[in-house]
Amino acid sequence: MRPDELEHLQLSRLRETIERVQHVPFYRDLLAQEGVRAEDIRTLEDLQRLPFTRKQDLRDGYPFGFFAVPLSRVVRIHTTSGTTGKPTVVGYTRGDLDRWSDLIARNLTMVGLTENDVFQNAVNMGMFTGGLGFHYGAEKVGMTVLPAGTGNTRRQIEMIDDFGVTAIHCTPSYAMHLAEVAEEMGSDLPSLKVGVFGAEPWSDATRNDLQDRLGVTAYDSYGLSELFGPGVAFECPEQDGLHIWHDSYLVEIIDPATGEQLGPGERGELVVTPLVKEAMPLIRYRTGDITMLLEDDCPCGRTRRIARFSGRVDDMLIIRGINVFPSQIEHILMALPEVGDQFMVYVDRNEHHLDEMTIHVEVKRQYFSGELADLARIQQKIVRTLRDTLELRTAVQLVEPGSLPRFEGKARRVVDRRTNV
Ligand SMILES: [Zn+2]
Repeated sequence: MRPDELEHLQLSRLRETIERVQHVPFYRDLLAQEGVRAEDIRTLEDLQRLPFTRKQDLRDGYPFGFFAVPLSRVVRIHTTSGTTGKPTVVGYTRGDLDRWSDLIARNLTMVGLTENDVFQNAVNMGMFTGGLGFHYGAEKVGMTVLPAGTGNTRRQIEMIDDFGVTAIHCTPSYAMHLAEVAEEMGSDLPSLKVGVFGAEPWSDATRNDLQDRLGVTAYDSYGLSELFGPGVAFECPEQDGLHIWHDSYLVEIIDPATGEQLGPGERGELVVTPLVKEAMPLIRYRTGDITMLLEDDCPCGRTRRIARFSGRVDDMLIIRGINVFPSQIEHILMALPEVGDQFMVYVDRNEHHLDEMTIHVEVKRQYFSGELADLARIQQKIVRTLRDTLELRTAVQLVEPGSLPRFEGKARRVVDRRTNV
């Protein structure tokens, strides 16, 4: 679609969305308060006049407070896995389910899957949107779909082998487990060629590992239940950033602290206005996920991409007014050959009320002592690399390999010792 045609479509769908949300008391009150009407939205720039919607708003609307249609028109309900309190409820009309399946079908087609593929859907089939979402999307492509669910991993491996499964969808951590069990069983899964992994953040190192061990090309899939579910953004065969379907989702990146829109190349929070949701339309939904718009067009021919996700807003540190994500520090450090397995970040406020960040970095054994050891040079190199990428001066202290704390499960690598932030 030509850029001007796309913009026209987005704008008319945005206006329809604003009309649809008038059936939701939360939005009706909020928009009246802000004095915004659908006819006031003349260009996409006017999107910024609309208020944000936060996860907490949806929680407060439990269970059906955000439905814009009567329950008689809602043909399915999913919920998000709330770790605390009540889950968030999402509803779908028949048209929503059709459009959602279409989006997933587009993603699967984008990576070359066709009706000739056999698709094993190895995720939870219940209230989690990843299961049924991919099920109907893959059926829409015409693939032969196995609703395998999770668990019974040896049986999953047998199915891959016996049914000639060519594509698998699961979480990256379950994929890692599948690889281990396949190795134990002595199967190298010869039929498998595509892996679709989502619902958890995963690194490029994990990608390489999974590609080697499962013999697949691994693609990152992004979505969230509030925006239908999976299918919001997906990698193309270039495996370098994710494409978003701009006819269905209006995308902004904002500074999570100020709410201001950010330009390409600036990392911030992804905010999405879904344009084709009927049962539960949303305006400027703050996903809490951190990414950035990528500047140049993709070699695959599709325009516009976002970078792979690099953490959650909740993890963000603001140091001397600069937003820093622990995942950025990890990314920078792990790319340096001299750096060992662990690091710890300490944030303090000095007597001049200035923030200071100190990073303790383990150095690999061969660089810590012996012939290759040149700690002063390594320290300077790390300081320089961090400064160039974060645009922030940090203190770096090199420490002996194995001396920093180890974590089981999620690592807690940041100690914020500032008292008044
Ligand atoms: Zn592409």
